Amino acid sequence: MSINWANARCTFHAGPSPSHRQRASQIERSARINSLRRIQRIVIGILAVLVFVPAARAQAEAAPVRIGVLAFLGWEAAFSDWGPLAQHLGSALPGRRFALAYYDAAGLREAVRREEVDFVITNSGHYAALESELGISRIATLDSPSVPSPARAIGSAVIARADRDDLEVLADLKGQRVAAVGEEAFGGFQVAWRELRRQGIEPEDFAQLDFLGFPISRIVTAIADGEADAGIVRACLLEELARSGAVRLADFKVLSPRREPGFSCGLSTELYPDWPIATLRHTDLRLAKAVAAALLAMPPTPKGYAWTAPVDYRPVHDLFRDLEIGPYSYLGENTLQALARRHWPFLLFFFAALGGWVIHAVRVEQQVHARTAALRAALAERDAAEAGMRAHQEQLDHLSRLSVLGELSGTLAHELNQPLAAIGNYAQSLLRRLESGRYTPAILAEASEEIAVQAERAGGIVRRIRAFASKRAAVREKRPLREVVQEATTLFGAMLPAAPRVEIDDRLPAGAVVDADVLQMQQVLLNLLKNAADAMQELAPRERAIGLVLDQVGPHYRIGVRDRGAGVPAGSAQHLFEPFFTTKPDGMGLGLSICKTIVEAHGGRLWAEANAAPPGMTFFFTLPADAQLA
Ligand code: ADP
Repeated sequence: MSINWANARCTFHAGPSPSHRQRASQIERSARINSLRRIQRIVIGILAVLVFVPAARAQAEAAPVRIGVLAFLGWEAAFSDWGPLAQHLGSALPGRRFALAYYDAAGLREAVRREEVDFVITNSGHYAALESELGISRIATLDSPSVPSPARAIGSAVIARADRDDLEVLADLKGQRVAAVGEEAFGGFQVAWRELRRQGIEPEDFAQLDFLGFPISRIVTAIADGEADAGIVRACLLEELARSGAVRLADFKVLSPRREPGFSCGLSTELYPDWPIATLRHTDLRLAKAVAAALLAMPPTPKGYAWTAPVDYRPVHDLFRDLEIGPYSYLGENTLQALARRHWPFLLFFFAALGGWVIHAVRVEQQVHARTAALRAALAERDAAEAGMRAHQEQLDHLSRLSVLGELSGTLAHELNQPLAAIGNYAQSLLRRLESGRYTPAILAEASEEIAVQAERAGGIVRRIRAFASKRAAVREKRPLREVVQEATTLFGAMLPAAPRVEIDDRLPAGAVVDADVLQMQQVLLNLLKNAADAMQELAPRERAIGLVLDQVGPHYRIGVRDRGAGVPAGSAQHLFEPFFTTKPDGMGLGLSICKTIVEAHGGRLWAEANAAPPGMTFFFTLPADAQLA
């Protein structure tokens, strides 16, 4: 049996004051007497083993099985508690020798890391830490007497002097001086810390927190001496000390006392699993199985300790997680590194997604740039083409109008001649009367008026012709369709003195309005009227009549120009609207093709039909009815 003195020391140690020391030494003295009695019994036991079981000694020549034990009370208490275990295992597994080695928490961790031990017996908090850190694995849990169950065995008591009326519950600890065993002590600090945190109190809320280390009785002494207002101790410690006569239970009280069925000691917290025995990663599995079987079969020790199947240590992990300590200490770290360690799968996914998104965004941006540039170029090209087409169209329009004018120029001259002749006649008649002295102011006024009327008539003809022949861009305006048609027929009549009469059949709804270039509309109507007149040249003047039918078909107005001419020769019908198709000796063949372009640019259609009742043709065109005004 080896005893590791070097590591059997306590980490947290706050030096007590002189009065404190007297009291502490008194408590320690009685604890030592107890320990010595235990040692006596154990030494006798060992001697008995050595004397009466010589065979065991022979078998013990083989390499010993090392059991590392957390010794929190000092080696003698540990020896007293765990000695029977080693004996039992030695006798249950003949041929095996079991050696107990005692460590403090850090020493035991190091021993596990270096694989210096084959089994570990430690408190549940330390076990949970080593389980996460070094992969030790429990095979049995201590079954202690006087606890409700192995899963509910370890708790803390937060104690104060009984005469401190101001300290009743854990919340009263704010601003008080509190003593505890150590930051890493499970029952001696961490269990109570979790309970305090649940109640909204943190160690920082204390006026002072002293870690006094082992033996735990130091905390009781500090409280009794008034050096601490309250203290955190393993549950049942106070009762044990009272049993040994070191303290009087009545001198102390437990803060926020809890009742746990089957648990008779004063308690301020919930209960956690009891100590486990665990294997290391390297421990031989057959040996682990044999040890587990031997432990489960072990009869209770004289103090009533036995072993049972391993219990669930998740509550201990939950405690660590809540407190962000031990294996979960990284939860409390807020450095970038800690965050990265904690959330690396999420961060990996996040950065991968971010990278993907950035690449996607850059690509989309590039594509948008490229397509925008291409679109701009295409638009510019289209605009240029449209501008070219417009210019071309305007040119053609102009040409066409000039052509119509050219054809009508003879008759135009005749038309203008009439008012000019009338003006001349009136002027000469006035001169004659002036010479003969037969003029009166009334005659002068009448002649002047007539001259003015005729001059206005001639001016009107010239204005209309100039407007018609002018070169300008298309201008849309909303105009009543009747007005547009009327103006065109008037112009037609003025241009062609021997023009056939135009009979208008108006079936338009009231307020029929078109959104159109009026001049272009007149151009279309004049062309159709002129073609109709040309088609009827062979007819006697009284038979020459053009029907102008205005009606609405669905969302369009329809204008039909009907003649009684010879119609279109067979085979020519499909060429009517082609540019430069003409059957007239002096024709240009542009009129209908330009009319078609104009009508289609207005959203309408132009077509020709042979009259249902021959002879003759009707040329129809449509224009969208202006929804706003119609
Ligand atoms: P143009 O009058 O200079 O010939 P258009 O494009 O106006 O040019 O007419 C093309 C041809 O369509 C005419 O030459 C003629 O043969 C035919 N056409 C046009 N209107 C009529 C009509 N109302 N009746 C018969 N033929 C027509």
